[in-house]
Amino acid sequence: MRATETHCPYCALQCGIALTTENGSVRLGPTDFPVNRGGLCAKGWTAAELLHHPDRLVTPLVREVPGDRTSPLREAGWDEALTLIAGTIEATQRRYGPDSVGAFGGGGLTNEKAYTLGKFVRVALRSSAIDYNGRFCMSSAATAANRALGVDRGLPFPVADIAEARTVLLVGANPADAMPPSMQYLHAGRAAGAKHIVVDPRRTATAADAYLHLQPLPGTDLALANGLLHIAIREGLIDDAYIRDRTTGFEAVRAATNPYWPGRVERMTGVPEANLRETARLLAGGGPAMILTARGAEQHSSGTDTAQAYLNLALALGLIGRPYSGYGTITGQGNGQGGREHGQKADQLPGYRRLDDPAARAHVAAVWRVDPDELPRPGRSAYEMLDRLGTDGGVKVLLVLASNIVVSAPDANRVADRLKALDLLVVSDIFLSETAAMADVVLPTAQWAEEEGTMTNLEGRVLRRKRALTPPPGVRTDLETLTDLAGLLGRGRYFSADPRTVFDELRRASAGGIADYAGISYERIEAEQGVFWPCPADDHPGTPRLFADRFPTPDGRARFVRVEHRDPDELPDRDYPYVLTTGRNMQQYQSGNQTRRVSALADALPGPRAEMHPDLARRHGVADGDTVELRSRRGRAVFRARLDPGIRPDTVFAPFHWVGANLLTNPALDPHSKMPAFKACAVAIASIDEG
Ligand code: SF4
Repeated sequence: MRATETHCPYCALQCGIALTTENGSVRLGPTDFPVNRGGLCAKGWTAAELLHHPDRLVTPLVREVPGDRTSPLREAGWDEALTLIAGTIEATQRRYGPDSVGAFGGGGLTNEKAYTLGKFVRVALRSSAIDYNGRFCMSSAATAANRALGVDRGLPFPVADIAEARTVLLVGANPADAMPPSMQYLHAGRAAGAKHIVVDPRRTATAADAYLHLQPLPGTDLALANGLLHIAIREGLIDDAYIRDRTTGFEAVRAATNPYWPGRVERMTGVPEANLRETARLLAGGGPAMILTARGAEQHSSGTDTAQAYLNLALALGLIGRPYSGYGTITGQGNGQGGREHGQKADQLPGYRRLDDPAARAHVAAVWRVDPDELPRPGRSAYEMLDRLGTDGGVKVLLVLASNIVVSAPDANRVADRLKALDLLVVSDIFLSETAAMADVVLPTAQWAEEEGTMTNLEGRVLRRKRALTPPPGVRTDLETLTDLAGLLGRGRYFSADPRTVFDELRRASAGGIADYAGISYERIEAEQGVFWPCPADDHPGTPRLFADRFPTPDGRARFVRVEHRDPDELPDRDYPYVLTTGRNMQQYQSGNQTRRVSALADALPGPRAEMHPDLARRHGVADGDTVELRSRRGRAVFRARLDPGIRPDTVFAPFHWVGANLLTNPALDPHSKMPAFKACAVAIASIDEG
């Protein structure tokens, strides 16, 4: 019998899990890791089912007729699969240039894999074409935090601090469903007298639990934030000394909030003026207060400015850097934080360095032992890359790791068409996802409890994922695959398949950067239950809380940024009269490629349910449990109807864990973060019989 303490394969909370293996069977339970403190959600409790799942890919697959995706996939050896990939890469780059080959990564990759993928594209492929699904996750909040605070760390404080805040404003966040063990901190705060306010068009489990529920029209969160700041200014609630001593740019923001008087904001958002005033007063009430945003506020064509508006509010109230107070964004994917720090973003190098910064290029090139001039320039963001696949100047050979794009990207019909236009699609996965089923080559990869590595959770705490089982024969880790491919491309000497070796190099590459891991080692993570970055030296304690004294900006001050409400890219009209907003169910994770295969989770929620108000359903003759079709300008999708009086009557909610919701969503991009507008598009409802 052998027990291994590791972490859940799913979300950014990264709950501690103990796996006990005995005679080939696996038992799973929570640990007392200081994040989940013995709690797990249904997804975590059932994660062991993934390990011996009958759908598991255990051998590479290639098309029976090369180049013909209508021909079936057949089993192949690794040599055959990798030789085919390397040969096609070389031929394609000879013909079309380096940027014709690219990669699409994922926020579930370990730090070591995210780092190696970024390096593989820049050093082995010498291509600029890389981005990842985190662009679809919380890039808006990251962009806003970088603008305001000079750094993006989801929560700049430990998650346990939430229990100490007297007021918490949650905007577009539903942790009761998305990460249930985190609710213990909200519950502890409430037991001590805290007041929680939830901003959400649906009465979610989190909203139902709160002191106050504000229910705005999707796409009006920015107006709501500016309205709260307007009230705070007019009622003398702002912290003038903090604004003077620790920030710049407030006067422009003060002027910008003038038009957001409460009556107007009530008309724009649908939130009553009295509730707006009470929220502003609670946040400024003198006790510790937090503002936390998540995807509901951020996944809009104005997502960056929306997150910025809440940062402005937090700064004006003097919350950021104060004990048990501040602004944070609740990252979603397991390594959503680390996944964006180590170079798989189109514009970034490890350590959260900018690819267009000559000093950053020189530093990373020295660690990689290449000439800085060899490093490509920034490439296209995720959707911009997908939208041009197979076109002149676009990527023609795409490697996909840890991503199920045809379920999770917006306007999924369009994305599927673009994938079909590729010369070669390679997908590495543990199961035959919908995207893998379209591939020319499928590579079976090791999963969470079969490999070593590190993850960085939503607090910026670097933790270790450990190997408890040996991968099935025929399965390789992504590090092995990328190293082997680099070898076939003549660049193998730059790469290692050993996670510790990769992490040591990552530490050096990140040294001196914003996300500085230089002082973090596997041994320290083990001994200290995780280490918070920045941690620039072996004897540095790590940094659980940021901003106590200064901000990492050139002048040490936080920056206000003037932002204005913009309507969503697509508004309801006569043909598409309702707003569709998308989100999560408790039983599923991301595209559902893993969780839809777990029997207990599938039994609890067998398919997607479109939530609508009973009044709206009545207008269309829809009863609870009926089959309905939602249509947008981009596609149509079928759902079971779930009638819920807690949702706005002008809004429909659909989960994105199945093929469906993203056939409808609008790929209009935020101009700053390139985040698609997942959270608001116009749809029509039809009973399925209307056909
Ligand atoms: Fe896993 Fe997240 Fe559930 Fe924790 S909350 S058990 S990390 S899915």
